[in-house]
Amino acid sequence: MDKDRRYDVVIIGAGPAGLTAALYAGRARVKTVVLERGAPGGQLLNTEAIEDYPGFDHITGPELAQRMADQAVKFGVDLETARVTGIHRRGDTQVVQTEDGEYVADYVILTAGGEPLKLGIPGESEFQGRGVSQCAVCDGAFFKEEEVAVVGGGDAALEEGVFLTRFAKKVYIIHRREQFRAQAILVEAARKHPKVELITNTIVTEVKGEDGQVKGITLKDVVTGETRPLKVTGLFVFIGFQPNVQFFDHREHVEHDPLGFLVTDSTMQTSLPGVYAAGDVRSQLTRQITTAVGDATTAAIDAVKKLEAKKHEPTPVPVDLYG
Ligand code: NAP
Repeated sequence: MDKDRRYDVVIIGAGPAGLTAALYAGRARVKTVVLERGAPGGQLLNTEAIEDYPGFDHITGPELAQRMADQAVKFGVDLETARVTGIHRRGDTQVVQTEDGEYVADYVILTAGGEPLKLGIPGESEFQGRGVSQCAVCDGAFFKEEEVAVVGGGDAALEEGVFLTRFAKKVYIIHRREQFRAQAILVEAARKHPKVELITNTIVTEVKGEDGQVKGITLKDVVTGETRPLKVTGLFVFIGFQPNVQFFDHREHVEHDPLGFLVTDSTMQTSLPGVYAAGDVRSQLTRQITTAVGDATTAAIDAVKKLEAKKHEPTPVPVDLYG
């Protein structure tokens, strides 16, 4: 192993949780690297407007991401592009494998977030990127003056649905129940928007297209069982996500909830000694930027305390059993 790859703390993922853990570790002067497979920011990069991060009336996701990354780097943290493939323990250390070699650390803080869930209906994969999308900020502009549908009833669906009205002439938000899971303020904004139509108790059963582009979807009313076609050229799927926990060799040995999110104690430690989890990858009530940065602060402070304690541990004296 390259000796530069021996760190006190390796942070996996550079979303708000990873960059916050990096800030706290960097300020505590512990040797820290953040490994990120793409650009720093995580889901912030797909978020147009943030209005619920304290101190900012309004900031774009990419701008907040850039500020967080700059702040962490200012305190001496290394930010490296690497795709992590595994985490395992070797003696007292954690080994983080990447496609480009391994990193060794005393502690790992896993802040790798998750991947958007798919509906698993016919046509969804076939038309992915050709009308089917999971990112309104990335793809919304392709639908100027067109009609699009959004699936989901959570914060993301309602927020992104309203965002799409900047481009689309009509946005249908399709939710499988009557009650929305999203915050009331977001449901209210969608309900009163002239370009948005909320369709409840309804699921999408098929995506249809021609010449490689989405031309419509099939809706099914879950109360009456009736089906009907809806002409749209875009389908945005916001039905939650699954955690990125594929790094562990034997996932069954890491405690997780029924959806796969990692269970931690109050200091954000997972059931694996030396491995913390923070942000969207962690099992918890909600997944906000504010909760991600809170988790990460706790994890980093605890890791720093443990590193300090290790420094003051007496060095074991070899015992000469035969002396
Ligand atoms: P979410 O809160 O888990 O909501 C997922 C939605 O998709 C639910 O309404 C769910 O329906 C629906 N759904 C799930 N599987 C489905 C399926 N197979 N077919 C049809 N509908 C399905 O996910 P999210 O909206 O992506 O949000 C994830 C987390 O990020 C949440 O904690 C959220 O608060 C947070 N977030 C916050 C903001 C913000 O604060 N501004 C913005 C975006 C995200 P049911 O309700 O029937 O289960």
